[in-house]
Amino acid sequence: MTCPYCGSQEIIYDYIHGYIVCTLCGSVIDTIFLEFFEERLIDSENFNRFEGLPSIRKGIEKKKIKTRLKIYTRMNFEILVYEKYAKKARKNVVIDIDAALRKETHIKSHERVYHHKDEDKVLNTALKDPVVNQILEYIVNRDPVLSSRTPRGKIALAIIIKNFIDNNPIDISELCRLTSMSIVHIRRLITLAKKRLPYIKKYVNEVKNNIVLNYTPYK
Ligand SMILES: [Zn+2]
Repeated sequence: MTCPYCGSQEIIYDYIHGYIVCTLCGSVIDTIFLEFFEERLIDSENFNRFEGLPSIRKGIEKKKIKTRLKIYTRMNFEILVYEKYAKKARKNVVIDIDAALRKETHIKSHERVYHHKDEDKVLNTALKDPVVNQILEYIVNRDPVLSSRTPRGKIALAIIIKNFIDNNPIDISELCRLTSMSIVHIRRLITLAKKRLPYIKKYVNEVKNNIVLNYTPYK
């Protein structure tokens, strides 16, 4: 930064008065703004005494304290939420802290907070079924609506579609256990899969008639 009046680079930031000043010619080059409002307690004994506006330096200090306090409050909140859920957790169950926080702040209330510690293993077992795998790659991942679900949701969809193909009734509680999803969630996925059937029918028939054995998915 150079002084626009004399071209000097000897510039100082005066935080007490809130000015940027050229030390060579003494011009005030700019004003330092700070978005900070003095907060007063209504019942404070100094309520009626006007103390003037806070200096810029004082304002920056207050801002720093406020920011630290915010971070601390957030950490404290996360610990409290974790403890609340940990208290009720059964053996071999892990807590999805992000889901718990969203639940506590009412952003998303249908999410599952508790997960079994082996659930990734369970999902991988489901994927070992070649037909489920094929449906996932060939049907679910190809459909714009179905492919936008979470990885867990997509595996559930593949299993649901497999049941459609085999004409088997869907065991909702088994699917819940397998995917660690709620009954509400699984029911919604079944409705979704049924809705998408007219659009994916061609691929479903191809899987059904076993003519996609040599299909290699493009990634
Ligand atoms: Zn100057």
